[in-house]
Amino acid sequence: MSPKILNTALDAVGNTPLIRLDRVAKHYGLKCNLLGKVEYMSAGGSVKDRIAKAMVEAAEKEGKLTPGKSVVIEPTSGNTGIGLAMACAIKGYSVIITLPNKMSLEKEAALRALGAEVVRTPTEAAWDSPESHIGVAQKLQREIPHGIILDQYRNVNNPLAHELTTGPEIIEAITSTAATLSKPSSGKVDVLVAGAGTGGTVTGISRAIKKTHNQDCVIVGVDPKGSILAVPDSLNEADRGIQYVVEGIGYDFIPDVLYQGDVDEWIKTSDEESFQAVQVLMKCEGLLVGGSSGSSLSGAIEWLKKSERGKRVSATEGRNVVVLLPDGIRNYMSKPWFLKLAMEKEPSPMASVIAKVLQSK
Ligand code: PMP
Repeated sequence: MSPKILNTALDAVGNTPLIRLDRVAKHYGLKCNLLGKVEYMSAGGSVKDRIAKAMVEAAEKEGKLTPGKSVVIEPTSGNTGIGLAMACAIKGYSVIITLPNKMSLEKEAALRALGAEVVRTPTEAAWDSPESHIGVAQKLQREIPHGIILDQYRNVNNPLAHELTTGPEIIEAITSTAATLSKPSSGKVDVLVAGAGTGGTVTGISRAIKKTHNQDCVIVGVDPKGSILAVPDSLNEADRGIQYVVEGIGYDFIPDVLYQGDVDEWIKTSDEESFQAVQVLMKCEGLLVGGSSGSSLSGAIEWLKKSERGKRVSATEGRNVVVLLPDGIRNYMSKPWFLKLAMEKEPSPMASVIAKVLQSK
């Protein structure tokens, strides 16, 4: 791509790379082409930049926002908030983000640095209670003049942003660059794996692929143990209500923008599996991904192994399997799970070499 000058950071939202995960595929002994859609390379650092931009631009078109006056209020697990705060910094709207306590300090710091106010809410509050991040946002909106909730849980521009950008980018990359894949390729997106929070990502990408590209593509949704988004509901039964550490995926209600009919199969994942998979993505591919990217990968591996055992055609050689990697590790640097993974390693052979060199006169 030739160098060019962009108008604002919003022009650097999306258009993220699709990267071959050949080393990860080898690590797990997979026969398919495994590819990662790397969303931390978007301007605000996550897949949610796309919907923040789309929701703000749609509200502007509808005349709902006035610079210097409007106060954009949004309940979020952080990344939508960062995208909104970025857009609103550029466009001149105030921002208040309601953020459950479990979400990282890094997200709060980024939000505050972008000029947003942040209100923390109890993680364990039920979604429809007045104390939840949703309930508190609604109270603020009722009381604050010119307050507006763009509402990622109900806003059609959430799935639509992915139907119009994320999905087509994946399709375009696969159809135009099959020759650069390491293994035989069907030339199509055969399997798409994505975690669900609001569900906008998985729903929107599913629609783009099934409507315009490959009706038979298998869409795999990933839902953390303790959440209730997976179908059939019996999948959620064993771990109902347990707390999980991974951020941005899973809920205690079904958001309107998650059309469960657009998802063919669901895999439940644990924190442990997710964080192990983050480590694999970092060590094998040098990708600085966040926790829910690990959930996507571990969900993909579980689904592929199941499919290969069942000899299902979609998982065999020549198939293209795309894993959505929603954000980056810079959001989670201070989290105990990451510090453990990064700092508490077995000493490497190089460590003793370094010690010897430093001790020598
Ligand atoms: N991972 C992370 C880190 C997120 O912030 C989100 C958004 N909540 C998701 C995954 C899931 O995206 P979606 O809301 O589109 O389902």
